Amino acid sequence: MGIEVWTPRDAQNVEAVDRIDALMPDVEQLVEIKTEQDTWQALTNEIKTCQACDLCQTRQQAVVGSGNLNAEVLWVTEAPTLGDEQQNQAFADDRAALFDEMLRAMSLSREAVFMTHIVKCRPPDDRDPKKAELAACGDFLTRQIALIQPKLIISVGRVATQQLLQSKETLTNLRGTVHHIDAIPMVAIYHPAYLLRKLSAKSMAWDDMQLALTFLK
Ligand code: SF4
Repeated sequence: MGIEVWTPRDAQNVEAVDRIDALMPDVEQLVEIKTEQDTWQALTNEIKTCQACDLCQTRQQAVVGSGNLNAEVLWVTEAPTLGDEQQNQAFADDRAALFDEMLRAMSLSREAVFMTHIVKCRPPDDRDPKKAELAACGDFLTRQIALIQPKLIISVGRVATQQLLQSKETLTNLRGTVHHIDAIPMVAIYHPAYLLRKLSAKSMAWDDMQLALTFLK
């Protein structure tokens, strides 16, 4: 007859609660969702205590990386040096000033970007990391990229670039063009330590920095 059937308020509440319950995951599901999500805290703890390759036996400490966790630009450089290990950050030592200059030229700063190494522990005598060490450490960088979701990755130096691109080409051949790591643009650049030794390479590094900047505008 056009008249709504009246239901007691309590009955309406029970129905509403049932509907909300149906939309909510149960406690077990929530725990599962939470454990599926990676966190910086979990990742940092894992790196700091990692023993997945021989480098854990000689390191003073693993160097996780530093800078802005929401950075648009992720810098990935070679293995930590003694200075990096002691100062717990990338681009320490005598190359720090030139790296800071490069950042300034791009209107960036250490606080604005995130900097990390291709492996997190220093190889003895600052040798290149071995294939097995690069492979063992690779997942940490993959997780850092997933957490940061940068707009651009800049690989610094031959070792980092070859490992990121899984290539044996020289850095001279890999620089000067745009690559992609899981759809994220990547530009390769000479290491500041190399630029300090070979001043003539600075103009090429400048070109690479300009190329990188095109992705940040
Ligand atoms: Fe672990 Fe990487 Fe250090 Fe090897 S280099 S011990 S894989 S954190």
